[in-house]
Amino acid sequence: MNYPGKGLMEGLAVTARNFVGSYFYKDRLTTVQYPEERVQTPENSRTFPFLVFEDSPDKPRCTACKICETECPPKCIYIVMDRDDKGKPMQRPKVFDIDISVCMQCQICVEVCPFDAIKMDNDYEKSKYERFDALVERLPDLLKPNEYYRKVKPTEASEVDARLKAEAEAKAAKKAAAAAAAAAKAAAQPPPAPTGTVT
Ligand code: SF4
Ligand code: SF4
Repeated sequence: MNYPGKGLMEGLAVTARNFVGSYFYKDRLTTVQYPEERVQTPENSRTFPFLVFEDSPDKPRCTACKICETECPPKCIYIVMDRDDKGKPMQRPKVFDIDISVCMQCQICVEVCPFDAIKMDNDYEKSKYERFDALVERLPDLLKPNEYYRKVKPTEASEVDARLKAEAEAKAAKKAAAAAAAAAKAAAQPPPAPTGTVT
């Protein structure tokens, strides 16, 4: 039955239930004494992107393919590929900037990356006192080890690890099969005919 003020009374009932419940149940507490206390964010929450590396920051998963730069809706990613002394591309970024004052946390960069190189962070403490480019995150700020990814998003990271392991094993098996086929083909070749003049 509807009556004037029904929605208001229901809303007040929820508020009263949470107010009283907060004395008995911790999950009813909606106020946190930040920064002395910090909320543990859920695993599937997201803030801004970061780049994953495996063993060393010199070896990021990112190949500087620029797909994320192209697909980012507000165009807040800027990438320059690293090159060796002879100008040959090194398949890793020399520059990787993300302007997090522009980033809208849409996660499209993560979805389009073919190398699982860029992931969304849970870190929400990004505010700065300075203006302008203080909120541009550079390559050293963005690079984080895979252990960090496993810590902040254990479920997602374990799925990525399993997929990358399966892909690496499949690639190694394919390479071994190709090498075995080449060796078998070489063994099946008849020996070359002797050359030279018989006297
Ligand atoms: S993060 Fe992924 S999509 Fe972006 S440049 Fe690196 S490898 Fe390419
Ligand atoms: S989360 Fe969205 S807006 Fe932010 S860098 Fe990635 S694609 Fe761009």
